[in-house]
Amino acid sequence: MKGFAMKKIGETGWVEKERPACGPCDAICKPIALAPCTSDVHTVWAGAIGERCDMVLGHEAVGEVVEVGSEVKDFKPGDKVLIAAITPDWNSLEAQGGYAMHSGGMLSGWKFSNFKDGVFAEYFHVNDADGNLAHMPEGMDIAAACMLADMVPTGLHGVELADIQFGDTVAVIGIGPVGLMAVAGAAIRGASTIYAVGSRKNCADLALEFGATEIINYREGDIVEQIMAKTNGKGVDKIVIAGGDNDTFAQALHMLKPGGIIGNVNYLGEGDYVKVPRLDWGCGMGHKQIRGGLMPGGRLRMEKLADLVMSGRIHPEKLITHRFTGLENVEPALMLMKDKPRDLIKPLIILED
Ligand code: NDP
Ligand code: ZN
Repeated sequence: MKGFAMKKIGETGWVEKERPACGPCDAICKPIALAPCTSDVHTVWAGAIGERCDMVLGHEAVGEVVEVGSEVKDFKPGDKVLIAAITPDWNSLEAQGGYAMHSGGMLSGWKFSNFKDGVFAEYFHVNDADGNLAHMPEGMDIAAACMLADMVPTGLHGVELADIQFGDTVAVIGIGPVGLMAVAGAAIRGASTIYAVGSRKNCADLALEFGATEIINYREGDIVEQIMAKTNGKGVDKIVIAGGDNDTFAQALHMLKPGGIIGNVNYLGEGDYVKVPRLDWGCGMGHKQIRGGLMPGGRLRMEKLADLVMSGRIHPEKLITHRFTGLENVEPALMLMKDKPRDLIKPLIILED
């Protein structure tokens, strides 16, 4: 089969591989829709997880099952399935401890395009199929289904990490597709004010549609100064970080109230340290929590998030700004993610039959 791969740090290309083998608890799927992720960009061009050689990229897909192992109970060939980007080992101790995304070691629930070939291929392998696949609801928009792989669960996880409550004043730093879903999640959770930090116009427009109350343009001035001015010097209760760089933590801590929580889902691709400014962290006594997490996967969560889509509470299909057809177009779609033209939010590739 052919797949689009990271050949080495800084280089991508097409590779020929054996179709993956199906273990007793696994499934083999073929993609019916795919999307590239900013994380693929960090992985290839920043070398963020180290060297990988001829590893098929991609972790965002909707698929059709083509083969299942002898122990798989709830899925069969022909089923249309949602697949989370993170596919934990549900029998692991880490999963039993509540952190399935770290099953087998830190970040090891992230298998596609990290420890094994990803989804940008004619076929891909899903471990623990009964735990990691979810049936795609009848009538679900294919774009929304594909955004359920990563953008929805990651954006909403930022909201969970920040523990956003009724009436909270919130800042969402970064309103690319992940941050936009965090804005939508913060609105569902009952935030009273949502400052959405970004600069691309269509992201800002969608943030307002998803529930942001104000846009803060980081290119037009320091975000701390802007948000402190708007909150009469008090700062915000909760912050979701879904963009920016290592210095963003310093800004976030400065504008976070004592007792506040930062939920980070940004993938820090470069540099060795994250700055925690001593005074803004209350000399270590400010009750300001910093949490960061990989999105949880799992069938139950995927089914619940799919219900949110089907009930019309979230509209992840609105993230799609660029559409392609055919596997060969994962290449230009990934290059769009790398180059981030200002009219881009998220590309989608539909596969022909
Ligand atoms: P995008 O690049 O599309 O969006 C990044 C956002 O951050 C944009 O709104 C951008 O603004 C803004 N931004 C950039 N620089 C700054 C700055 N200095 N200060 C404030 N805002 C800034 O990314 P995605 O939405 O696709 O992904 C967000 C992050 O989430 C990525 O790091 C990705 O790898 C990560 N991720 C993490 C996962 C997890 O499980 N934790 C899973 C999936 C993704 P502008 O409008 O100017 O572009
Ligand atoms: Zn991703």
